[in-house]
Amino acid sequence: MSKIALVTGGSRGIGAGIAIALGKAGYTVLVNYCKSDYAASSVCEKIVKAGGTAEAIKADVGFYRDVQKMFDTIEEDFGPVDVLVNNAGIEIRHPSTEYDEATYDLIMNTNLKGAFFCSQRALRTMMEKKWGRIINISSVHEERPTGNRSIYSISKAGMWMMTREHAKEFGPYGITVNSVSPGAIRTDLNRKVLEDPAYEANVLKNIPAKFIAEPEDIAGIVVFLASEESRYLNGASITVDGGLALN
Ligand code: NDP
Repeated sequence: MSKIALVTGGSRGIGAGIAIALGKAGYTVLVNYCKSDYAASSVCEKIVKAGGTAEAIKADVGFYRDVQKMFDTIEEDFGPVDVLVNNAGIEIRHPSTEYDEATYDLIMNTNLKGAFFCSQRALRTMMEKKWGRIINISSVHEERPTGNRSIYSISKAGMWMMTREHAKEFGPYGITVNSVSPGAIRTDLNRKVLEDPAYEANVLKNIPAKFIAEPEDIAGIVVFLASEESRYLNGASITVDGGLALN
């Protein structure tokens, strides 16, 4: 029987790339999304057309009740989650003096609270099975300040500590928890800012590899982290940024 993989925010961008790659690797993929039904079903269609198994599952990970309902449905219809990819995330740019409470809550709830409570549900059944993989999609900004989106980087710094806390707490149960920290990946998240050639040139200036990557450039490492071959990797943050962090 194939392993069950849940990718939060799997309908677009990096999450879609990861979902498709996990589908190709033989996992039954649950493609979580919040709003875009069409995008989620297109990802599932691609996986199924390639010979895999996938189903879209709508839930706003920022809401505890949505997370509980999503896991109840998955466990009932498919079984316990073997591989959880906490990918759903948003970025809203403002000077720190201008964020309001609602925006703070939206970013933190989506990026960090959602990942925590998805992990909590997955960890409970992974502990019973004595096997599990959690891959947190963080960011180079987990340790590198942005200068214009502080709540985003604060949420990713929290995710990095969550990775290490969970890696230590659940390592004895055959569970590994790692994070992947992408640099600049071309998705809807940054499409608008990258439309400005001056902004793009400035980003490229700091990337030794001299290109902005695609979601597929993140998917490969996630497939490896989901596999048996990665069993001795635990509590790591793997930076995938074309060398950006070297600056
Ligand atoms: P996109 O904006 O392209 O896609 C975001 C995905 O998350 C969509 O599938 C969206 O679904 C889903 N999503 C958003 N909010 C929620 C929610 N509350 N509940 C469930 N799903 C939700 O983003 P990226 O692919 O660029 O980013 C994915 C992850 O990678 C994020 O965590 C981001 O921080 C991280 N990252 C991205 C980088 C980049 O350069 N792109 C760099 C470093 C890290 P829907 O459309 O239905 O809302």
